[in-house]
Amino acid sequence: MLKQIVIARYHGFCMGVKRAINIAEETSANETGPVTILNEIVHNEAVVNRFKDQGVGQAKRVDDIDQGTLIISAHGVAPAVKEEATAKGVRVVDATCPLVERIYEIIIRVVARGYHVIHFGEMHHDETLGIVGHAPDSITVVSSVDEIKALPDWTERKLGLTVQTTAHEESFADIEKLVKEKWPHIEIFNTICNATSQRQAAIMDLAPKVDMVLVVGSKTSANSMRLAQIADAICGKGILIGSAADINDDWIAEGTGVERVGISAGASTPDFLVEDVIESLVEKSGGTAEVIQPERRRKRAQKSA
Ligand code: SF4
Repeated sequence: MLKQIVIARYHGFCMGVKRAINIAEETSANETGPVTILNEIVHNEAVVNRFKDQGVGQAKRVDDIDQGTLIISAHGVAPAVKEEATAKGVRVVDATCPLVERIYEIIIRVVARGYHVIHFGEMHHDETLGIVGHAPDSITVVSSVDEIKALPDWTERKLGLTVQTTAHEESFADIEKLVKEKWPHIEIFNTICNATSQRQAAIMDLAPKVDMVLVVGSKTSANSMRLAQIADAICGKGILIGSAADINDDWIAEGTGVERVGISAGASTPDFLVEDVIESLVEKSGGTAEVIQPERRRKRAQKSA
């Protein structure tokens, strides 16, 4: 029987996501012409649908827009995309996360010094496409250890390594070790963002203390998927759910042995979805499950009381 619901110390919206949503909200409130978001403003259906309901357009390519204002999502884009929009007379509002822009800056700086950059990330992720677009001829994207092993010798080449902001810290540590063995002269830039590191550390702390972890987030959210994988590897039951509606009663039914459920959420998951999940679990426990909030939040709450 479900007795406790334990909330991860760090979960949910990060700085970059909050900032992108604020920029999109302000832009749609102030612009008189059509406003369109390129790709998903953040990878969360509830957030994306809210903007759609407010009449904000969604487009996958600049080709689909020929007027008004275009908002670039938190994941960023290649410079050519912004140039294409501007050339069509479309006003560009850039909500790229500053921590993604930091990767652009690193790449531009080292490529100017003659480096070739190996970027560890998901090949078709919006963030990766934007990064590659900043130096298309000087970046090689890899997603696995095997892909790195298959790369040429490059002993004479100046090399740098960057990484997707939402990558798994431990996998990147393995990649770091491997590239250093293969190219001792490589310069490493750990560009995993602080929000990702904190959420991964919090779920690693939480997962061994519970029987199951539910991670609230979309399947399109790389960081949410990663949190579920980390939890699954630790406690054997890490499940990604989009919302409270996805909770299967069988997971917490009598006889499953599940007494403590941990809750986390990806950096693009709004608080209300997490609150709904907690509420639903309490209800399913017959109103008896205790909700254990993270220490950090409790302290903050006491301070402001
Ligand atoms: S996950 Fe990190 S890089 Fe991505 S938007 Fe949030 S703070 Fe920025």
